[in-house]
Amino acid sequence: METTNNPQIIDGKKTSATIKEEIAAEVVKIKAAGGKTPHLAAVLVGDDGASQTYVGAKVKACEQIGFTSTLVKLDADISEEGLLEEIEKLNSNADVDGMIVQLPLPKHISVQKVTEKIRPEKDVDGFTPANVGRMALNWPTYVSATPNGIMELIKRYNIETSGKHCVVIGRSHIVGSPMSILMGRNDNPGNCTVTLTHSRTKNLPEIARTADILIVAIGKAEFVTKDMVKPGAVVIDVGIHRVPDASKKSGFRLIGDVKFDEVAPLASAITPVPGGVGPMTIASLLYNTLMASQRKIYS
Ligand code: NAP
Repeated sequence: METTNNPQIIDGKKTSATIKEEIAAEVVKIKAAGGKTPHLAAVLVGDDGASQTYVGAKVKACEQIGFTSTLVKLDADISEEGLLEEIEKLNSNADVDGMIVQLPLPKHISVQKVTEKIRPEKDVDGFTPANVGRMALNWPTYVSATPNGIMELIKRYNIETSGKHCVVIGRSHIVGSPMSILMGRNDNPGNCTVTLTHSRTKNLPEIARTADILIVAIGKAEFVTKDMVKPGAVVIDVGIHRVPDASKKSGFRLIGDVKFDEVAPLASAITPVPGGVGPMTIASLLYNTLMASQRKIYS
């Protein structure tokens, strides 16, 4: 039986830093040539702590690489109509290249209506039906941040995908489903034979063990154990969980959906948590915003 004791660690922290440097260099060139500075607008509804942190990190990243950013902060009790009007203002503001509406939204607001209101040309989160459809068709589009980040890691680490069996665990709209489409497309990376699994899947460990590439996005801490992984598999762990840890200054540490310590020795390559998929998310958003400002997807 093939075993690997030293898997390649797929370093999302380093890769995202490289991508940010590449984008920053591009922005310098654009500005020097008198071009338009990329501009991202982020809409935050309410004062949820986690959402504030995520949006804050996105705005800070924009500043760091020379983008313009606008944070639109709205009260939690804004009406659905009021939010749609704010989105329309950003839709028609020619200086704004891309926009994101931070989820989750308060219960009285329909995520579907809000998503449909965003102009696809400015939908740098890649959540609108137009952009999801274009992704499925393998047309130029904004691929949503986490799947885009995973594909970029696979590309930059030269992981062979053609003809491989990819098992995706989890079918959420933001991670599992798009990953299954992207890995199965006639593209590179892509061209995998894909099995999409979920909570109703029977014999999940057995199916997972057939994966050459195992992508795990279920939101259950350390769910994937060594008996679910084929020796030599590439393992991509999307999960993020905080667990109490008195030895840390913060009082917690982060773990993933994969039991890293026992799975890593079996894998040929694996993403750690933290420092794997997570840091790639913002880099993808910045990349999409750069594409939007350059009218690279919709001309
Ligand atoms: P989600 O919307 O909760 O979806 C979870 C999926 O896992 C569902 O499709 C569910 O199946 C499936 N599932 C749950 N229990 C299962 C089981 N026992 N066996 C098989 N499938 C099971 O989760 P998500 O938004 O995709 O997020 C997943 C994880 O990734 C979370 O830890 C989240 O924090 C993390 N995440 C990280 C990033 C990042 O940037 N790194 C981004 C997004 C999410 P059903 O459809 O049948 O219910």
